[in-house]
Amino acid sequence: MIHTDSVDMSGTNDNRSLANFNDGWANACERLMAAVAPSQRRRVQGLLSNPSLGGRGIRMWVQNLMRAEDVNLPSSVPETLVQVYFDDAEAIPLHDCEQCGVPLPVRPGLAADHSEPERVYFERCPICGGRAGLYAFWSRSADGSAAQSEPEINDSERRQRVRRIAR
Ligand SMILES: [Zn+2]
Repeated sequence: MIHTDSVDMSGTNDNRSLANFNDGWANACERLMAAVAPSQRRRVQGLLSNPSLGGRGIRMWVQNLMRAEDVNLPSSVPETLVQVYFDDAEAIPLHDCEQCGVPLPVRPGLAADHSEPERVYFERCPICGGRAGLYAFWSRSADGSAAQSEPEINDSERRQRVRRIAR
């Protein structure tokens, strides 16, 4: 029998994972800042360090970067894209580009699965012109030849993925 109370619940591990989280967060912030236009960096920095100013969508973008180190970040992010997060405090990066995978902002609607945004800011990717939509990049990747070796992800898992992102 496994005694759950034998699991180490001392603060040491928590502190270490918090430190790892902070490192990952700082690293992802730095990567995003490097890609943001110099004229917008100060404001983005403000939103990242002070949630009371808004910028929920930008912080979610950073969280995405923490989860996926090598994707979703172009070398330079168009000002029009970042401006959406400045102008719309509700905007969050739920759509993506099917070509380059950059996350794109929408204002979410009331549907729990975010399938019907209240407002879509980019029908086409402002970076590469690719089609944009919910899971556009993800579903295109899954349709490719790699799909045979990838485990299939069903609808409920997709919804969980969205919920995680939207949290
Ligand atoms: Zn693109």
